[in-house]
Amino acid sequence: MPALSSESTLQLLLFVDERHSARDLVEELEEFIEADPESGVNLQIVDVSDRPYLAEHFKVVMTPTLLRITPLPRQVISGKNLLSKLKTFWDDWLVQARINASGVASGHSGLADSIAYSTELIQLADRLFQLKRDKEELEEQLRFKDRIVAMLAHDLRNPLTALSLALETIEVGGEKITPKLMEQLLQHARNQTKIVNAMITDLLEAGRGTNKEFHLDLRKIELDKLCHSVVNDLYFTNRLKVKEQELVVDIPSGLPLVFADEERIRQVLTNLLGNAVKYTPVGGKIVFAVLDRTSQKTEVSITDTGPGIPPELRDRIFEDRYRIERDGNEDGYGIGLSLCRRIIRAHYGQIWVEDAGKQGSCFRFTLPVY
Ligand code: ADP
Repeated sequence: MPALSSESTLQLLLFVDERHSARDLVEELEEFIEADPESGVNLQIVDVSDRPYLAEHFKVVMTPTLLRITPLPRQVISGKNLLSKLKTFWDDWLVQARINASGVASGHSGLADSIAYSTELIQLADRLFQLKRDKEELEEQLRFKDRIVAMLAHDLRNPLTALSLALETIEVGGEKITPKLMEQLLQHARNQTKIVNAMITDLLEAGRGTNKEFHLDLRKIELDKLCHSVVNDLYFTNRLKVKEQELVVDIPSGLPLVFADEERIRQVLTNLLGNAVKYTPVGGKIVFAVLDRTSQKTEVSITDTGPGIPPELRDRIFEDRYRIERDGNEDGYGIGLSLCRRIIRAHYGQIWVEDAGKQGSCFRFTLPVY
């Protein structure tokens, strides 16, 4: 919206909503005003759904409403036949505007002051609205961080409990502990420390990821809708048909919202489903499932009946440009999974692959719920 011009002597604000009829009114009004370019009229349009605070400030209770800002006193025309009502006042308004303008020219600053005031007021109202929005967004992010801290504390407690159990067993076991059992317990303890360590590394990377690598546009999203839109994408339905593969979709309704960057998560889902289709032979089966795992996490799993991932490569496939040699004939650059991992980590989630029953791989990732 252009700023109010102090050159104009008649300042009008038109409050409209998004209805089709509003567009016609705006056009008619602009045409009417432009028919007399010498009149010095400045008309601004305010869509009340975009700027409800302006309607509130000017106490506009219905649309359309035309407000004469200057010359003072303010006047209001509302409702149907607005243009014909305006025409009845028009000549009077122009005369009053001219009288006011000549007042300014002869040293009375009332009009200029009032225009400056209106301009400033509209700018302040805009700024205030923006600040309120920023504040809400920041509060939302703070709430999300609080939940993440609670979730991480909960996650860290599991390996630590297992670790302390192993240590206690060693402590109280005394002579009953054979060298073999001792070795097993120590190995168990070492494994739990590794898990804690890996979680801390992930956490540090997530912090770095959110700040630098990606500009995540975090919002409350409905994961079920997003998943449905990915699995129903024409690209996949076509590819599944070509490879004669069966896709089983198990997405429960009533899933909690997740706080995530919708497009980034779409990228992850597309990569994982794309891989499942690519690496599963003709006639295979793919299961796409979402699970409301705990009150803090939602889990997505994509299971296929392809060749599976050998246990020793289950970390490596998430590295940049890593491809299993056997798959050299398939299209690809080995970057899809590493991108998925970066995205999921940046959301404070986890991603991994495991066996899928008899044959195939099962890729899983978690996202914190909102
Ligand atoms: P790309 O598929 O482009 O090679 P990715 O990063 O997506 O790259 O995957 C890395 C590697 O992991 C692949 O090259 C493939 O060897 C293996 N892989 C990924 N998904 C599957 C799957 N569903 N089944 C079997 N192997 C897979």
